[in-house]
Amino acid sequence: MKTAVIGSGVAGLAVACRLASRGVKVDLFEKNSTPGGKISEIRDKGYRFDTGPSLFTLPSMVTDIAGLDYFELENSCRYFFPDGTEFNFYNDRQRLKEECESTGIREFGNIAARLQESRELYDLTANLFLFNSFHKLSNFIKEENRKIPLKLHKLKFLSTMHSANKKRFGDKRIVQLFDRYATYNGSSPYRAPATLNMISHLEHNLGAFFPAGGIYSIVKTLYNKAIELGVEFRFNSLVSSMEFDKTGRMATGIQVNGEYLAYDMLVCDCDVNHFSDNMLPPGIRHPLAKRLQKTEPSSSALIFYWGVKGEFPLFDVHNIFFTTDYKKEFEYLFVKGELYHDPTIYLFISKKVVSSDAPEGCENWFVMVNAPANTGQDWSKMVSSARSAILKKLNTLLLSKGITADIGQLIETEHIASPFTIEKNTLSSRGSLYGSSSNSMMSAFLRHPNHLRKFRNIWFTGGSVHPGGGIPLCLASAMIVDKEIEEREKKKTPK
Ligand SMILES: Cc1cc2nc3c(=O)[nH]c(=O)nc-3n(C[C@H](O)[C@H](O)[C@H](O)COP(=O)(O)OP(=O)(O)OC[C@H]3O[C@@H](n4cnc5c(N)ncnc54)[C@H](O)[C@@H]3O)c2cc1C
Repeated sequence: MKTAVIGSGVAGLAVACRLASRGVKVDLFEKNSTPGGKISEIRDKGYRFDTGPSLFTLPSMVTDIAGLDYFELENSCRYFFPDGTEFNFYNDRQRLKEECESTGIREFGNIAARLQESRELYDLTANLFLFNSFHKLSNFIKEENRKIPLKLHKLKFLSTMHSANKKRFGDKRIVQLFDRYATYNGSSPYRAPATLNMISHLEHNLGAFFPAGGIYSIVKTLYNKAIELGVEFRFNSLVSSMEFDKTGRMATGIQVNGEYLAYDMLVCDCDVNHFSDNMLPPGIRHPLAKRLQKTEPSSSALIFYWGVKGEFPLFDVHNIFFTTDYKKEFEYLFVKGELYHDPTIYLFISKKVVSSDAPEGCENWFVMVNAPANTGQDWSKMVSSARSAILKKLNTLLLSKGITADIGQLIETEHIASPFTIEKNTLSSRGSLYGSSSNSMMSAFLRHPNHLRKFRNIWFTGGSVHPGGGIPLCLASAMIVDKEIEEREKKKTPK
């Protein structure tokens, strides 16, 4: 069975490895000159920056495929609240309890209860929602999933994440902290169903991890494994379209750099909107095209990669500086399509745990604010005002902690990514980070399936399809696709 995988994002690499390890002949086509898609790296003047993801959960999704050296972080994130509170979310419960006591956040009991709820929600649903196709009746009637309809009330998809958090926590700071998990799939906590409160389970019950060589080593590991398994890579190879047989249901091959190549099976790791809008030949229509056009994309991001001359013990690997008005910030992102003037800032410094990521005495700062999807805004103007707002906020915070520093003066190298560049580099629809948003009760049910009856030998993997975006879910989609293909092959093989 000759298979083409289109796109070398983490899911494309994983599915290529899984198929090749079962003896399938796989060619992987990538429009860029390097693998990884949204997971990439920049090296400049002795600094190394991971350009996309920074938080790594469920490492077993990688190590099931190939060995990866990684470790657990003691503190999953250092939070800076507008009232001056600094709060470390330690993964060790005793330490977390002490942190709550020393910061006057009297929520330890509620945090523990919430994390237990997230665990139960995850245990109840992961098998059906995350690790199997959600669009096959046979998965719903499996023994282990039969209990779900009886426990529908536990899924809490009728209330929003924010309302559930407000109900659970008395302290506004902890409500804001738990609301933030909506951004882990690019959604708004004021609209996303409370079911998504299960996201915190991954980080706090199962752990926040970091690969020893930085996030990009996940890509390197999968790429090397794919090579070892005989996958052939074709870089600088944009798949411009597919060809079909007379029935319009069986793809026969792809067009790449002006050449037609025949394949028995195609696996798309590209954004499904890109597939629907650009890769189908005239006369063949995606059956869900209308729905895809109407779907709200997840949020995007504006990122500054700064090589900073100086070291700041005040900061940890992951740091959040919250806005004073979270609700307004999400209104700007999803309703106005603009950046809020006082954005929540995320600062990631891998140098804290990977010493070679910046020269001695310096730090590699990845500074990100959530951004709306790209609808043609004037990004150069928005980048410039966001840069000033970020520098002002960080300098003011440092001053409030007794540190006089002008970060702008310490930047010796700078790179910038915006929704526009993310879209251009990865062909992700409107620069979304996680495919479609989960800003509605039905969003989980409406994610694009991994397979459509109309296209018999085309499969879909990656962040824009079921079960969703983010490294672990993309890797789960690769696992689902491989499993489904294997099952189909078994059915076809005469006994
Ligand atoms: C700034 C940022 C921060 C993030 N933070 C986190 C985080 O902390 N934790 C986390 O888990 N996730 C995070 N994510 C999300 C995560 O990076 C993505 O969900 C995941 O990497 C997407 O992988 P994918 O397999 O869908 O493919 P993508 O990474 O989207 O790659 C698709 C690839 O396909 C190629 N391609 C597309 N069309 C074609 C074509 N026609 N022909 C050839 N090649 C094609 C593209 O060039 C690209 O290389 C973040 C993403 C970004 C951008």
